[in-house]
Amino acid sequence: MADKTEKIGVVGAGTMGAGIAQVAAQAGFETLLYDIKQEFIDAGLGRIASFLKGSRERGKISAEEEQQVLDRLRSTTKLEDFAGYTLIIEAAPEILELKRDIFKQLDAICGPETLIATNTSSFSVTAIAASTQHTERILGLHFFNPPALMALVEVIQGDRTTDETVEKATALVRAIGKTPARAKDTPGFIVNRIARPFYNESLRILGDGGATVETVDRIMKEAGNFRMGPFELMDLIGNDINFAATESLYHSFFEDARLRPSPIHQRMVMGGNLGRKTGRGFYVYGKK
Ligand code: NAD
Repeated sequence: MADKTEKIGVVGAGTMGAGIAQVAAQAGFETLLYDIKQEFIDAGLGRIASFLKGSRERGKISAEEEQQVLDRLRSTTKLEDFAGYTLIIEAAPEILELKRDIFKQLDAICGPETLIATNTSSFSVTAIAASTQHTERILGLHFFNPPALMALVEVIQGDRTTDETVEKATALVRAIGKTPARAKDTPGFIVNRIARPFYNESLRILGDGGATVETVDRIMKEAGNFRMGPFELMDLIGNDINFAATESLYHSFFEDARLRPSPIHQRMVMGGNLGRKTGRGFYVYGKK
């Protein structure tokens, strides 16, 4: 059983990291949020604060609960501060070498009892763990966007992850209030692999002039009963993150044509049209 006196760390205060830190703090855990610059932490904490404010205004949480969650959240720009933590969840950009470097550092900082998980969408947990000495405590915990609202967390056992690590992490996922689902360390695990054609075929329809962004999204919602259309979802995920996941799966399956990324998507990323987080993607958002 997970104990709420245990401490949870989150690396990366972006779309996923801030959301994961929020759910951990809401579940009652003391939570430490790391990013490379204070301004990124402030932006992440700002999003958490406005989510909580909205929940309070809708009567879902009291002002006291809101304050308690904020009090449980601390932040740092030093990875060393994670020493002694129970579980650290890495949610840094989807760049393999960057993740391997973070894991190498955390492995040296934290004793072997600390579990270190990656939130990667597409990389092999075993490949990330290979940069560490204590491969037995490395695993994948794949949350979905937005973490505060999505129940599922894929729990991924790498080739050298012990059963004990998986069991402890599964108990912590339940204690955070999420629903764990075991997945093998295969490219894209379960959900992201299934989701690839949803994005890729939509981009192909757009490239072929078959339908506009708005039409595809509207049809999927109105006729297909999907909560969001593929282009809205790509903007929510972040086009950089989603494109990186597609590219990674494409290479992992030895350039399987079914998974080939779209040049339209690549151009969006290269042009900085990353979606909601930059204010412009397939759609334009707010005042940014
Ligand atoms: P993001 O770009 O929103 O946030 C990444 C954060 O990492 C930024 O705040 C950035 O400042 C920080 N960062 C940059 N360099 C760093 C470093 N060296 N060390 C620590 N932090 C660093 O990305 P995101 O969408 O939150 O994705 C993070 C991870 O979660 C990726 O692996 C992604 O594949 C995965 N993921 C994303 C989604 C999604 O819908 N966006 C869903 C599931 C999983």
